[in-house]
Amino acid sequence: MAQKDGKTAYPPVIVLADLSVPYLEMTGAEPCRQTDPEQWFPEHGHNATAVRLCHTCPLLADCRKWALANPQLASEGIWGGLTRAQRAALRRNEMRQAS
Ligand code: SF4
Repeated sequence: MAQKDGKTAYPPVIVLADLSVPYLEMTGAEPCRQTDPEQWFPEHGHNATAVRLCHTCPLLADCRKWALANPQLASEGIWGGLTRAQRAALRRNEMRQAS
């Protein structure tokens, strides 16, 4: 649909979650809920403290699985003890193995 300025208006992009992987049932006791959440979104993509704390979290495996299944929704930050770069590398490896 054209706007007054002649440009085409597109509807907003809606990112849908992969519903085959349920979101985490958090209790509020997870390390990312108990400390400064900014640690999980470090400016340079990696924060050793957040990664170490993730490895003490009972939701580590589910959190990692959800983040890997939902790269658009977990595009930034540390999820399941993995940085964005680590998640991308794992997804690339999975795609290579699947092909
Ligand atoms: S594994 Fe997931 S839920 Fe647990 S602390 Fe890390 S980011 Fe939070």
